[in-house]
Amino acid sequence: MSYRDRILIVEDEKNIAGFMTTILTSNGYEVLHAETGAEALMLVSSHCPDAMILDLGLPDMDGQRIIRTVREWSQLPILVVSARSHERDKVSALDLGADDYVTKPFGTGELLARLRTALRHAHNRDAEESLIQRGKFTAGDLCVDFDKRRVYVRGEDAKLTQNEYRIVALLAKYAGRVLTYDYLISQIWGPNASGDNRILRVNMANIRRKIEPKPGQSQYIFTEMGVGYRMIEDD
Ligand code: CA
Repeated sequence: MSYRDRILIVEDEKNIAGFMTTILTSNGYEVLHAETGAEALMLVSSHCPDAMILDLGLPDMDGQRIIRTVREWSQLPILVVSARSHERDKVSALDLGADDYVTKPFGTGELLARLRTALRHAHNRDAEESLIQRGKFTAGDLCVDFDKRRVYVRGEDAKLTQNEYRIVALLAKYAGRVLTYDYLISQIWGPNASGDNRILRVNMANIRRKIEPKPGQSQYIFTEMGVGYRMIEDD
């Protein structure tokens, strides 16, 4: 590996921090560790990490404040680590600009996979943002053709409506990441749209009927309960 990604772990529980440091180091990452929010903010500006793994419950400040502060000047990928009971925290963390979250307790494989996805998206971000989405997204029998603005299942046009297409295209563009209900609603129906999820859920039910092979069994688009939706990563 010619360049080692430098990961900042922000975690006040020594056991967890130690565990994560071991995993990341043995997978070729360079690791920095902060136990407080103040220390984290200092390290972000002094050591320019490539990504941050952030525990929301810190002794000196709320993790959400860290996300908000960092996002004022940096697009650094932020992977939030949170307890399952704090679903609202996860949603607002994502809405504040965190890239993804991992629920405690988490497995090694999951942590590494989420981190790789966040880093890859960050590395691609500049190119992604400067271009209109082009080409194709393919996962199994599903193909999103961004140029034709159509979705195909086993080569057949799934006949999505305009809004259904836009939802699928957005999820495909950020495949592997969870997009929150609020984010999807604001992207599809505009920033002043009602925060009511009902219309999004109706659209999603129609999309699933058209693209998923079996009813009630998601193969492509997964629901993150109370948070949003995630598209499977491309092949
Ligand atoms: Ca903590």
